[in-house]
Parts: sequence; C-alpha cells; structure tokens
Amino acid sequence: MEKIRVELTKQPKQKPDITKTAFGTEFSDHMFVMDYSPEQGWYDPRIVPFAPITLSPASTVFHYGVEIFEGMKAYRRADGGIQLFRPDQNISRFNSSADRMCMPLVDEEFLLSAIKQLVSLDRDWVPNAPDSSLYIRPFMFATEPVISVHAHGRCKLMVITSPVACYYPTGLNPTKILIETDDVRAVKGGTGYVKCGGNYAAANRAGAKAEAMGYSQVLWLDGVERKYIEEVGSMNVMFKINGKIVTPKLTGSVLPGITLKSCIELMHHYNIPVEERLISVDELIEACRNGSLEEAWGTGTAAVVSPIGELCYNGEKFVVNGGKIGAFTQQLYDKLTGIQWGKCEDPFGWTVRID
Ligand SMILES: *Cc1c(COP(=O)(O)O)cnc(C)c1O
Repeated sequence: MEKIRVELTKQPKQKPDITKTAFGTEFSDHMFVMDYSPEQGWYDPRIVPFAPITLSPASTVFHYGVEIFEGMKAYRRADGGIQLFRPDQNISRFNSSADRMCMPLVDEEFLLSAIKQLVSLDRDWVPNAPDSSLYIRPFMFATEPVISVHAHGRCKLMVITSPVACYYPTGLNPTKILIETDDVRAVKGGTGYVKCGGNYAAANRAGAKAEAMGYSQVLWLDGVERKYIEEVGSMNVMFKINGKIVTPKLTGSVLPGITLKSCIELMHHYNIPVEERLISVDELIEACRNGSLEEAWGTGTAAVVSPIGELCYNGEKFVVNGGKIGAFTQQLYDKLTGIQWGKCEDPFGWTVRID
C-alpha cells in the first residue's frame, strides 16, 4: 500500500465545550480518505482537512444503499496518553461487512495504521473530561456513477472523528424499552450481522414509534416468528434472570457486538457463567411477572453498558429492578470503562496505545 499523503488544515477549528455538545455533531480537523477502482485497487490514501465531498448523483450509494460503517473510540488516559479499544475487532468486522455487501476488502493492518495516524494528528481533539472520548467512524460507500443495479466497482473509504461527552452526564439512567411486535430489524440470510446503513434505515419507523410513546429504544424480536429476543435498538442485550446471565445467541440476524463480546470474555475471566442461547419473549415476560428478571442492560460502543429500567410488551409495562441500575450492571460498566480509559489494568491486551 502506498504511503499516506497528508495535507494539513490551514484553518484549525475551535474545539467545542464537550459538556455542551450533542453526540456526533462536532468533527475534528482532519479525515482519512482513500478510493478504490477495480483496475487500480485501493489508491491515493490521504489525510486531508475535514470538508464536504463531491459525488455524482448517479453514485450507487444513493440508489441502492451500498454502504457500511464502523464505530469505535479513542480514549484519553489519566496519564495523558491516548488508546484505542480492540480496534482489530472493528476492522475485521468492517471487512466482514464489506464481504456481505460485495464491496472490496481492505488491508486490516493498513487501515489500523491509517486510523492511528489520523487520531495521532488530531490528538488534541481527544477530550479529557471524565468519560468523554473521540468517536471514530470508518465508512465505505459505492461511488460507481451508473444507475444500474449491476454496477459494481468504484468505492470510497473515509474515516471521520467526533469528540463526544460522557454518554450519561447525569449518571447511568435506566432507559424504557418498547418490545416491537410488528417491524423487524433483520432476518437470517439478510444483513443483520453486518453494520450497513440500510439496517438503520429500516429500523427508523419502529424507533420513531417507540419515541412517540415515550420509550427510548425498541427491543427487536426475530423476523420469522416474532418470538425470540435479538437486540435493543442499536445495542446487544443481556439479562440477569434468577442469578444467571443470559444473552441472545448470535444467530446471523444479530449484530456481533464487540462490547458484548468483551462483556462475555470479562465474565469468563471472573468465572461468571454466561448462557448464549435463544431467549423467547414469553420467557422474558414470565421472568418479569414472577420477579426472576433481576437486571437487564444493552451493550454497545457509544453507551458501553446501558441499564434497562422498564419494558413494555403489548401495552403492559414491567419495571426492572425498581427502575434503578442493578449492582451487576454497574460493576460491568465500571470494569469495562476502567479498562477503556486506562484506569484499571488490561489483562486481555485489548488496548492499543497511540503515541
Ligand atoms: C454497532 C451495533 C451494536 C454494538 O456493537 P459494538 O461493537 O458493541 O459497538 C449492536 N447492534 C447493532 C445493530 C449495531 O449496529
């Protein structure tokens, strides 16, 4: 792969007050870009000032939604250093998404080095307020300027970064979740296991309905029987039922979250059993009714661990753990964020320092 060309901004931006900034609204000074054509492969990797781009209106992405993305973070350590959390996992999932969408694969080591170089250049954009971070968004889309469904070819890969505050400025507040019984997010054989924009477009209607009813996210059921629990909004989901930790099995329609995987590996490390299996909504509701559902939480890069305080199913409401964060959820949050921000030891080799 060629050396990355660097063009520095001539107008560095003012850094925002991170505590007053909504998630994903501010961007750092630079971005990484590279292009792909079937003839040349990946070419012209470059770090350039963050700016709008020009595309043909015929570009495949606008018509057929050929787009994938990733979400990861750079964290400011107490000693002032910067680190990434399991970036290899994000990049290999990026390639798995590319493969599903018939898009070109990337050299994983090269993309990691490009991300490190970008973050290192914009290192002053990694905030140091408690629990804040620099959100990193790699994405790729099809740019072939032909409106034929068969047009494959040109693609553009970009990485932009956005300083984000603590997800919970007022503490870990449990969310209210609506169990969605009409719309589905994904089916086996579809694209549920990859991060593509289309999955989100299809999920918006259910999300908007839940929001209008005062819920923050939906809990998705499987697309065939509307029987098994899959995920919550754009997070994976875990439950503590009768003292046991359970999470839906990754059946192909569930996104294989890196936060989920890390939670499971943490629990294995501490000899806490975790069951990865099919969980029916009937089992969950029965556990709500008989009081054996002790805790419930979502997992994802943005919020890390997000406690669930209420579930609504077919109009009936169930409060989880008195609407408060459970002790296990809190421990999990503390342990994982401790490793991510370099406050506790990382016995797993998950963190990657940027110098
Ligand atoms: C990204 C994502 C997750 C969480 O994955 P992480 O790797 O933990 O951030 C869960 N579900 C969906 C649908 C997602 O897009």
